[in-house]
Amino acid sequence: MNTTQPGSSLVIDTKEVGRRPGSMASLSRTIEAPADLGTDVIAVPEGQEIDLDLRLESVVEGVLVTGTGSAVATGACVRCLTEVHPTVDIRFQELFVWPDRVDHHREVGDDEDEEEYRIENELIDLEPVLRDTVVPSLPFQPVCREDCPGLCSQCGARLADDPDHQHDVIDPRWAALEVLRPLAETAGESPVETDEGKRN
Ligand SMILES: [Zn+2]
Ligand SMILES: [Zn+2]
Repeated sequence: MNTTQPGSSLVIDTKEVGRRPGSMASLSRTIEAPADLGTDVIAVPEGQEIDLDLRLESVVEGVLVTGTGSAVATGACVRCLTEVHPTVDIRFQELFVWPDRVDHHREVGDDEDEEEYRIENELIDLEPVLRDTVVPSLPFQPVCREDCPGLCSQCGARLADDPDHQHDVIDPRWAALEVLRPLAETAGESPVETDEGKRN
């Protein structure tokens, strides 16, 4: 389990809002994207600066954090491997529970399986929230455009650049059969010639 590190751009001090229920604070933060913010095919690069608008609202159980912002992911089109840079909207609203309210929150919570974020050492760590928000919103199979035709199966050329792309060259797997073709054609044509010869 990772401990909440003060000083990280993703860590917010609860002193910003205080513990009195009803008090609120708004702040803008430029955070740095943590490592592995994404999947194998697409992710927000580590260290990318993301501007987040945050609203903190102190409630009895903890601090309700609302965040909005956007990040730019980097990935590769699954069809043609071109780099893609989709923008990801970040929107979350999560309750961070005070450690001394955790048990009570569990009792009144409507869903015990729901992931629970906790305030640790008076600090709120946004990293898991950011991860839970961003990663599922990334395209599972990114494409450079919806109708990306992909790559030529023979030479790997991008078909989007050259839609009429064709090969006259015979696939090596068929080359062996091609050697037999003249024989087959001769065999097939000769009866026709014979028929025509008879009619004439
Ligand atoms: Zn593509
Ligand atoms: Zn080709």
